[in-house]
Amino acid sequence: MSVPVSQMWAVASYVVKQRLGGRRRYPLVLMLEPLFRCNLACAGCGKIQYPAQILRKHLTVEACLRAVEECGAPIVSIPGGEPLMYPDIGRLVEELTARKKYVYLCTNAILLREKLEAGVFKPSKYLTFSVHMDGLREEHDESVCREGVYDEAAEGIQEALRRGFRVTTNTTLFEGASPLRMREFFDAMMDLGVEGMTLSPGYSYSKAPDQDHFLPTRKTQELFSRMLANPKRRWKFNQSPLFLQFLMGKRDYECTPWGNPTFNMFGWQRPCYLLQEGYAESFQDLIENTRWERYGKKSGNPKCRDCMVHCGFEATAVHETFTSWKGFRDTVVATVTGKP
Ligand code: SF4
Ligand code: SF4
Repeated sequence: MSVPVSQMWAVASYVVKQRLGGRRRYPLVLMLEPLFRCNLACAGCGKIQYPAQILRKHLTVEACLRAVEECGAPIVSIPGGEPLMYPDIGRLVEELTARKKYVYLCTNAILLREKLEAGVFKPSKYLTFSVHMDGLREEHDESVCREGVYDEAAEGIQEALRRGFRVTTNTTLFEGASPLRMREFFDAMMDLGVEGMTLSPGYSYSKAPDQDHFLPTRKTQELFSRMLANPKRRWKFNQSPLFLQFLMGKRDYECTPWGNPTFNMFGWQRPCYLLQEGYAESFQDLIENTRWERYGKKSGNPKCRDCMVHCGFEATAVHETFTSWKGFRDTVVATVTGKP
């Protein structure tokens, strides 16, 4: 695992505090979506299909900060849309890092170089650019439906690293991904010098234009087992090794949908980042009045049946690490040996 010790400590002490406070449902990562518009139109995207009048809108920085305070999660992930198209992204990030929130700015990196050159961001241990990279050049450009994006993103990554920023990659895998090519991709990302990589199978968004390439559970397990068999020591993953073991079929987890709550211009999205079954007016309303028993694998909800996505299950893995000796021991062993 490549997460810095200070960040791990912040998360561990937060989890322990929640447990000691007897809090049953607590958030780990706030998914803050200040806007939905994007400069790409990927086939597997479930976010950019809103009508033009919604795509033109965005949240104010003040509304974002209120949501961050309300939620209290130690990590704030800013997906989108494309957050570098948010006009106040520099001020938003500055306000969040001043509050000691660990910010993951999830970007396709097309605008990264330009924003860095314009001095929009300052390096900080609290800020990480999490660059969308779905594979090597050919696979990534196909996934984002535009040629040349891989090279632009790689340039953006190098520029950010040169300027002293933390950079990770985030990769969504779909049906047909080749384990061998993905292993080459891991080498390529390590050669670029990123701090770590995050992986997740795609979720079969009903709104995504390409419905034929989402992975069912068995195929996800097969793909991750082959891809991560005999991992190279140099590969660093910026996520829980127990979550990777879950993706490989070595662990059986239930979803923790409140672990990564989502806030956007409609409010607090029920029940999770992936499904839109209404919105709550406050974070408290989300936690207290969502019918959680209707979601997750045990619920039998067909929308949850094949879901193994990080925003539902990584919180379960982190929870196990910091609340059970076995989970802690397994995490330490996987981290030390480099074998998920
Ligand atoms: S870069 Fe992200 S937000 Fe933009 S279209 Fe692709 S998946 Fe959607
Ligand atoms: S299983 Fe997936 S789709 Fe269902 S509630 Fe959890 S994260 Fe959402």
